[in-house]
Amino acid sequence: MSSPIESIRNIGIIAHIDAGKTTTTERILYYTGASYRMGNVDDGNTTTDFNEEEADRGITIYSAAVSCRWNETNINIIDTPGHVDFTAEVERSLRVLDGAVVIFSAVEGVEAQSETVWRQADKYHVPRICFINKMDRIGADFERTFQQIQSRLSAQPVALQIPIGAGSSGSEDSLSGVIDLITMQALYFDSESRGKEVSVKEIPENYLESAQLWRGELLEMLSSHDDELLEAMVEEQEISEDKIYQVLREMTLAGKVQPTFCGASLDYIGVQPVLDGVTRFLPSPLDRPAVEGEHPSPKKKGEKQTRQPSATEPVCGLVFKIVVDQHTDLSFFRLYSGTLSSGTRLLNPRTGKKELISQIWRVQADSREKVEEVGVGDIVGLIGPKEVVTGDTLCDNHKPILLESISFPETVISMAVEPDSSAERKKLADVLQRLERQDPTFHAVVSEETGQTIISGMGELHLEVLRNRLLKEFGLQVRVHKPRVSYRETIRNAVEATGLFDRKSGDITHFAKVKLAAKPYDGETSISVKNRLKPKTLPAELQQLLVQTVKEESQGSGYIGYPLMKIEFTILDATYREGETTDVAIQAAVSEAIRNVLTEKNTVLLEPIMKLDISTPEEYVGAIQSDLNVRRAIIINSERRGDLCLLEAEASLSKLFGYSTQIRSLSQGRASYSMEPLKYAEAPSEILHEIMGF
Ligand code: GDP
Ligand code: MG
Repeated sequence: MSSPIESIRNIGIIAHIDAGKTTTTERILYYTGASYRMGNVDDGNTTTDFNEEEADRGITIYSAAVSCRWNETNINIIDTPGHVDFTAEVERSLRVLDGAVVIFSAVEGVEAQSETVWRQADKYHVPRICFINKMDRIGADFERTFQQIQSRLSAQPVALQIPIGAGSSGSEDSLSGVIDLITMQALYFDSESRGKEVSVKEIPENYLESAQLWRGELLEMLSSHDDELLEAMVEEQEISEDKIYQVLREMTLAGKVQPTFCGASLDYIGVQPVLDGVTRFLPSPLDRPAVEGEHPSPKKKGEKQTRQPSATEPVCGLVFKIVVDQHTDLSFFRLYSGTLSSGTRLLNPRTGKKELISQIWRVQADSREKVEEVGVGDIVGLIGPKEVVTGDTLCDNHKPILLESISFPETVISMAVEPDSSAERKKLADVLQRLERQDPTFHAVVSEETGQTIISGMGELHLEVLRNRLLKEFGLQVRVHKPRVSYRETIRNAVEATGLFDRKSGDITHFAKVKLAAKPYDGETSISVKNRLKPKTLPAELQQLLVQTVKEESQGSGYIGYPLMKIEFTILDATYREGETTDVAIQAAVSEAIRNVLTEKNTVLLEPIMKLDISTPEEYVGAIQSDLNVRRAIIINSERRGDLCLLEAEASLSKLFGYSTQIRSLSQGRASYSMEPLKYAEAPSEILHEIMGF
């Protein structure tokens, strides 16, 4: 059974770590009836954190999609990670969701990670609603958090509720409910039934004035967008709830406002109105623009293709997540157009191969339901595809389209893994291959020199998670070495170099001469290749081969042996001799030209620099700062937020090993932090000397 497209909501729940994403998701699944037992993060039994590793840590690392129903609406929740070590996962989820619920803690307010994610959501034009959570806690402040959303995120929140009790200005009582500014009623959530029973009452006397003020702001905001509403306001006519919902929906979809709710999901307060908000204000797949891609065949390369969100369009969709367990791989798939039935074969334009969709599953929090068909706009798990990786398009074989693939940052840290026996070696290779398909920010290669398997990722925590999965989840017998920084190489000055190959082998002479220029470069890709060859310098096929070879060779390693980056190569000239300029000769000449570009004198060693966001109670700031100084970190920003201090710093990854243990001991476990790769920068000369052995 597939749902009509207007009643589908594909949403993400986005939050800074610990703001309450998992708890809120749990409550949502409980109220929608998708989850029969209510889990609590603190007991490690929540349903969305189904990966054992995540439950252990109490953080959500792997995003999975969970479906539930509310008010005749099918809501697919794409779980987004809250930890910045996993930014790429957030970015990836944003590609497939249509709207988002952004959760803030009313105590901590807008935190650094929320800023990062908010900007990413802006980039993908994702309409949002906000939920100010933890209103029950001491120090919670609705108004302050609301204003921070305005100022720190340059957003346009519009309050649809205010809290009753603590957290509202001046009140000493504990949170007891919320006021709905549209219906002008007070909502109380019965704790006996875990908030399932909601009683609707009149607004308490002492809240009337403030409710009217907030409602006034709401209406004013809406009247700037809608003339009818403006007129009604001017003429002091009554404004219907439906009219308000309609205008709010339009403005939310256009990114002009973010309807804002409040509550405390731990105490079961205020969650159902957020669900109403999801169905009322967030887009259905129909409200989103058509997807765009390219024709995948080389002949039509670059030809733009679009698919409307319609059942009659050819099938196309994106694999945005692969969940690997011991038994099967489940490929989470967003269908952008057409209708997909099980038993169909779809083309993977990246590999050019057809993949059989043998089963389609709708994944609920604690059950999976097999379906025969999935309709346009929906999200499901597929079983069957063999060679797909995260980010792949699957489409109608006769109407091929390649959707823009998802880009991932470079890995910055690596470690060696050694199997205990050759039987384990085979198993390790299998498991790593599957994990790589699941998580494209992680890579595994076997080193030709040492025979060791090297795995690399986005940070120490990322590798630690992978290590534990290998040992615990997959039960592999492997030895794991210490993590090491992944260095890169670039060049300091622009140079030109020539590669010449001229050799007789039997009766045949192989000859080619290639001239390249190389210069430092800082663009979107890590390496850029340009072709300035005059037409007809080489026959078309050889010219193509030459460009291709430069592209491949420049992905290799540099003078010291680390991968190259931040270089632009330009092909300046080539010399051709009929009958002698062969494929072999071109390849050899290119490889020599690149070798000649890379000299010891011109080599620059690059090291990864990490961005650190630290949040700590005031009393530990001194200790944390002096430790940062020892680590030669640069503190970019520091500010106070209530009784917390937030530090933003940059430091080279090589100085950050063991940081999680250190910060825990410096703050008695009270400070939290996140770390993500920021950029590659020139490494201090000591490191270069150490590596080069002088
Ligand atoms: P996540 O990291 O965003 O998924 O946040 P969690 O849902 O794991 O919550 C982090 C911590 O905050 C847990 O200890 C929760 O019990 C607690 N928490 C979540 N929501 C609330 C709330 O509304 N009030 C209070 N007081 N604590 C909450
Ligand atoms: Mg969580």
